Amino acid sequence: MDWSNKVVMITGASSGIGRALALELARRGARLGLVARRREVLEETAAAASAGEKGRTKILPADVQDAPAMREAAQQLMTAFGKIDVLIANAGIGVTNSALKFDAAKTASTINVNVVGAANSVAAVLPEMIARGSGHLLVISSLAAYRGLPKSAAYCASKAAVSAMFESFRLDLEPRGIYVTIVHPGFIKTPLTAGRHARLPWLMEVEDAANKIVGALEKRKKSYAFPWQLATIVRLGMIMPNFMYDWFSRRNSLRE
Ligand code: NAD
Repeated sequence: MDWSNKVVMITGASSGIGRALALELARRGARLGLVARRREVLEETAAAASAGEKGRTKILPADVQDAPAMREAAQQLMTAFGKIDVLIANAGIGVTNSALKFDAAKTASTINVNVVGAANSVAAVLPEMIARGSGHLLVISSLAAYRGLPKSAAYCASKAAVSAMFESFRLDLEPRGIYVTIVHPGFIKTPLTAGRHARLPWLMEVEDAANKIVGALEKRKKSYAFPWQLATIVRLGMIMPNFMYDWFSRRNSLRE
């Protein structure tokens, strides 16, 4: 695929998966708009992404929870590069919240970043994509979207919501020439998983994950779950009867 004439906006581009996607897409020749809250960290990602080739990466400091700021960021990118071909809605937070110490405020903040933030990102780019009759939305959901996991009420709820939201987008937008890809990763080595002490099965390097995600984008996959080993276990969980799922999930809790 020729990326040299593509403009990609990535949210949460200052670290982890978003940063690795920025570096991989820059290597393939795309022009980029990088969104996250901290300008100085974005500047570092932009410098790494555009090594040697200036002017192909624009930093767009914004909080995804702030709808007008996201619209302004998209406008700035369109002014700079003329269009946005691909949105990667990646910004997200992960929290542990057991029902035994339940905190509804944590749930609200997780939903605000992971779900409302993704909705604001889409709303910022979609009118121009619809007017043009082309574009691609990709969201980084999680294998945690499929069923409830122990001590993960807020995170699972947010990822289930975002997957359903983008599936709905896909039904409405594909006939208008706009592709939608929902990515369900397992465990990736990033700052988000760095503080976890439980053994994380099939933990992947972030560069390998970014390569797989760009592959799914190029193939215009409707949804993509990886690594296949964990994705298969999660899919088995979806067809297990509840008593079996509960027994298996409690014995294999991945949150300390
Ligand atoms: P990370 O903490 O390294 O990166 C998260 C990024 O989102 C950072 O750039 C952060 O600044 C940004 N961000 C957070 N809140 C924001 C806000 N309000 N406004 C703008 N930017 C904001 O974590 P990561 O692992 O790279 O996570 C990226 C995405 O991948 C998340 O949606 C996460 O849920 C998802 N995910 C991660 C894993 C994993 O194992 N790491 C697995 C499945 C899904």
